[in-house]
Amino acid sequence: MLIPETRFIIGNWKTNPDTLKESSLLAKKISGSSDNVSVVVCPPDIFIENVKNHIGNGIAIGAQGFSSEGSSALTGGISLSQLISLSVQYCIVGHSSQRAQGETNADVNLKIRECLAHNIIPIVCIGEKERDENSTYLKILESQITATFSDLSRAEFEHMIIAYEPLWAIGSDSKRSATPAEFETISLFIKKIVYDMTGQNPVGQITIVYGGSIDTIEEAVAYNDIGAHGLLIGRASLDVRMFNKIISVFS
Ligand code: PGA
Repeated sequence: MLIPETRFIIGNWKTNPDTLKESSLLAKKISGSSDNVSVVVCPPDIFIENVKNHIGNGIAIGAQGFSSEGSSALTGGISLSQLISLSVQYCIVGHSSQRAQGETNADVNLKIRECLAHNIIPIVCIGEKERDENSTYLKILESQITATFSDLSRAEFEHMIIAYEPLWAIGSDSKRSATPAEFETISLFIKKIVYDMTGQNPVGQITIVYGGSIDTIEEAVAYNDIGAHGLLIGRASLDVRMFNKIISVFS
């Protein structure tokens, strides 16, 4: 599946909400996609089927991750085959919370391939833990990118979404969001590395969204103003009024 030529507002519900009933209420209130914006909602696996039944037309469902094929006897895991059976269209891979639990760049690379092989669009998270004055973080980011996307073709890059998720800019403890200018710089940095890796110019075709926190509508407006391909939103996606406003900003 080639990704549509729209921008993406992706809600990552993480381990929210607490109940099935709340997941129905949330799903019902989300405004739909438009010609300009594709809305993707990634609920916890256990609520996927329910959310599908309550969500508006045109809103796609994504999963938050899976255990790699071959892990069929993993207690508490979920397999890609199970997600396929739920007709999931997108899947987050390499999120910092998964990487913190031991997911390696090689694991993420394998998961990207598994998603692509089954027509699921991977939403691949990358990002540095912290920034330092000597810009060492760029080297760290570069090695994460080259390992995460190792041996993928230019065509494969056209079938995925990359989420730049600087760890210092996510979660309620973060001191600030990455500015649109910082995001633009890193987007170019990613495109240059991908160009070096594939030997071809994929600049126009790579979809890169901002995956740090969005705390205010003004931040969403600023990201829209620079023509960002979209946002991967955590907490703010649980506040439906805020989420809908963000969708309309990008519409
Ligand atoms: P947040 O999460 O919006 O709650 O900071 C973002 C993320 O984890 O991608």
